[in-house]
Amino acid sequence: MSKLIATSSQPAVSNESSSIIQPLISWFKSAPDNHRVRLITGRFNTLRRSISLPLLALCFITPWLTWNDLPLVHLDLVSKQFRFADIVLWPEDLMVLTWMMMAGAFGLFFVAMVSGRLWCGYACPQTVWTFLFIRLEEIIEGSRHKRLKMDRQPWALNKQSAEKVARKSLKHVSWLGLSIATGITFIAYFYPLSDMANDFLASDFLVNEMSGSGLFWILFIGLLTYLNAGFLREQVCTHMCPYSRFQSVMADRSTLVVEYNEERNDCIDCQVCVQVCPTDIDIRDGMQLACIACGACVDACDDIMEKINKPKGLISYHPGESSFKEAINLIRRPRLIGYAAALLLSLFLLVNEWQGREIINAHLERERTSLYRINANDEIENNFFIKLHNKAKNRQNVYFEIDNNQSQQEDFKLSQTQFNLASGQRLQIPFTVTRLSTGGNTRRRESNNEAITINVLSTVNNEKVGTINTSFIAPR
Ligand code: SF4
Ligand code: SF4
Repeated sequence: MSKLIATSSQPAVSNESSSIIQPLISWFKSAPDNHRVRLITGRFNTLRRSISLPLLALCFITPWLTWNDLPLVHLDLVSKQFRFADIVLWPEDLMVLTWMMMAGAFGLFFVAMVSGRLWCGYACPQTVWTFLFIRLEEIIEGSRHKRLKMDRQPWALNKQSAEKVARKSLKHVSWLGLSIATGITFIAYFYPLSDMANDFLASDFLVNEMSGSGLFWILFIGLLTYLNAGFLREQVCTHMCPYSRFQSVMADRSTLVVEYNEERNDCIDCQVCVQVCPTDIDIRDGMQLACIACGACVDACDDIMEKINKPKGLISYHPGESSFKEAINLIRRPRLIGYAAALLLSLFLLVNEWQGREIINAHLERERTSLYRINANDEIENNFFIKLHNKAKNRQNVYFEIDNNQSQQEDFKLSQTQFNLASGQRLQIPFTVTRLSTGGNTRRRESNNEAITINVLSTVNNEKVGTINTSFIAPR
């Protein structure tokens, strides 16, 4: 396998400041004009389009979809909830989110170890949007050859310059249009399109806090898209993306990479593999950090090999230093088995957490002024604030019952046992637990601190929908 080397034009690992400044310098030096990507057809290009176009469509269509008259997907930062169809997650569901992220992380580690940077080359938004921008550029300005020729034309008051201005202007208008559409789509996941449209059509939309900040974020995301996909392009993959940095840590000697077969001696130095590379590298120099495994050079070289009657595969996907047979031998790759096991464990814990999830979040906060109080009936009272949150998608009528297993029902009285909560409603009210003066087990009362569990049950089917664990404090 070729050894890992730096991109020909940039250092493989630069210090922090250069990793931020370098893309900006390249942008101001008009790097895109120096590197005009040539689009190519081929099996990996077809594969990339068949993956990226449905993803792109999904991304743009989802904000338009509704479920029971609500957005299908809504990251509602105002009321702090994430809604996907009937599933609603709240900040209290942190463990569900934690296991979700753990499963996502181990899934990514597993995929990265098997297939290297295939995610980058086929599904990463940076790549998908960059190829989309290059496609627009090619439609408006023509093939790579025409674009380079146009770039070399001096600016002057003549017909050619007028055409150059018109084509370049049209290209930037189309890029900006796509960028703004991207900004609107991205923000629509947080700010539903129907609300956005109503707010923007209202006369006060610039002073309305929601629509004002919505407009700011649409323009901000639009600007980032325009700069990223139009100008920075490979600089993001090479210098800014953290995934490319830690991807090399996850790879082993059998990870899939794009490789040039030096031993074949069939290269005619046509440069097409370099012209099609979106990250502006020459794969013949060896495997490089900037390579996003997009397969464009594989398609390009296969096409050339076909034309000169040589076998395809001078550049190909290959499992690093191993053969394909060795790569699928999992015993040789214990780390891969570890990632798979961690992924399955995270998924199991996620399902387990989801199934045990209570739809009423309830807990007691002790009143700080006194630990306990003795009332006019000579009974001991503990005063709390009860905090209830209905996480269900519908109204809940609930009642409280002290846990049967603790056989304490006879001993305690609750100040309120019935609650009616609208979907998403949070409630905080004073709440008193009173220990009755008669009856009860004196042995338990030798302690001044008794554990109490209160079950929250639905009045509809007596199903447990929440639990409160607290303690009752009394004098010894
Ligand atoms: S496309 Fe193939 S033949 Fe042409 S320069 Fe690249 S490796 Fe050589
Ligand atoms: S070297 Fe080939 S696979 Fe790697 S980024 Fe360039 S075109 Fe894509």
